Amino acid sequence: MKLFDLTGRVAIVTGGNGGIGLGLATGMAQAGAAVVVAGRDGKKNAEAVKKLEGLGAKAIAATVDVADEASCRALVDTAASRLGRVDILVNNAGIAIRKAPEAYTLDDWRKVIDINLTGAFLCAQAAYPHMVKAGGGKIINIGSMLSIFGMPHAVAYGASKGGIVQMSRSLATAWAKDNIQVNALLPGWINSDLTRSARVEVEGLNERVLARTPTKRWGEPEDFAGVGVFLASTASDFITGVAIPVDGGFSIQG
Ligand code: NDP
Repeated sequence: MKLFDLTGRVAIVTGGNGGIGLGLATGMAQAGAAVVVAGRDGKKNAEAVKKLEGLGAKAIAATVDVADEASCRALVDTAASRLGRVDILVNNAGIAIRKAPEAYTLDDWRKVIDINLTGAFLCAQAAYPHMVKAGGGKIINIGSMLSIFGMPHAVAYGASKGGIVQMSRSLATAWAKDNIQVNALLPGWINSDLTRSARVEVEGLNERVLARTPTKRWGEPEDFAGVGVFLASTASDFITGVAIPVDGGFSIQG
């Protein structure tokens, strides 16, 4: 359907080499976008590109550390020079450091905030002139259930993910005049490298997630493909500044 067609669009997906990022990249590739898979690990980037090419899509790999300003700017410049334009930016790269707040070092704090929040801002800022040039754009920022809730061992992660939602709202208001829509997705508990160890190591986590999730399952990266295409396409042109939970109902369960 034309409404959801991304043919001719160029999408950058940070952390697009695995997990939720690859789920989003796959959906966009299937909808016709050319995708820049951006992560730190060159081998993972290359494997993801191969997967997207296998679907018949155009894809390139770009090594980036979103905690580094020059690296964010170089990523966007690479996308624009190799693929000709930048229409869609997915700020998905993220890490978690699980520790009690009193045990957090300043270095831990900065690392999480730099990657999860500052990196998203820097990539958005670098993409802005390219989106203006293209006549508009779509920015999708990845938050979390911890954009809404608190958890004892996630002080910096929660601060970064709360910040993602507020940053999205500010960017949405600032760049509406440029036909750029900025929205956030809030994943529930999703099966990925980020949660795999916690699922095994944190006693009772698996049971608690299943008990609170009305759909009675963990999410899969593939669950992001459809909503990603929606927010990247003209179908969502009148939607900006919202934060959509993709959580199987986790956040509405009392
Ligand atoms: P993964 O660990 O599978 O993915 C994280 C991605 O981020 C990897 O592709 C990694 O690539 C990339 N990354 C990490 N640090 C950097 C960096 N400094 N620069 C560039 N890329 C980086 O986990 P998920 O897929 O689960 O996580 C994706 C997003 O979803 C994150 O923002 C996470 O916070 C969020 N999320 C996940 C949830 C879940 O249940 N899984 C729940 C809520 C939110 P590389 O290894 O190459 O650096």
